[in-house]
Amino acid sequence: MADCIFCKIIKREIPSQTVYENEAVMVFKDINPVAPTHWLAIPKQHIDNVADPRLLDGSLLQSIFGAIQHLAKTEGLSENGFRVVVNCGRDAGEAVPHLHFHLIAGRKMSWPPG
Ligand code: AMP
Ligand code: ZN
Repeated sequence: MADCIFCKIIKREIPSQTVYENEAVMVFKDINPVAPTHWLAIPKQHIDNVADPRLLDGSLLQSIFGAIQHLAKTEGLSENGFRVVVNCGRDAGEAVPHLHFHLIAGRKMSWPPG
């Protein structure tokens, strides 16, 4: 989508610190981290959010969680644990309308979320 900030990151029109990339998925550092590790895993195809039916079409979910599992293993996140967060819509605080999975680790976290 032309005016989507994460589509621009994928096209490298906006810089990002890429952590991992394959043909379907990109993972980059969140610009405003809430923990020592805070990355965003996004599909390269524009999908609005987790309520978008296109998410269930094909192998996209497999690609996203494949990337997350790969990083959890290679970056040692599984050792102490990590959190995957997806905000959807206004009440959840979704600010960027391109599906993204927050990958958060490196400190003890509380529950329930605010
Ligand atoms: P959400 O509130 O779930 O929509 O999360 C959007 C996230 O995108 C926030 O954590 C922002 O800090 C992050 N963000 C926004 N713009 C950028 C950017 N240009 N590069 C990296 N992260 C960004
Ligand atoms: Zn987009």
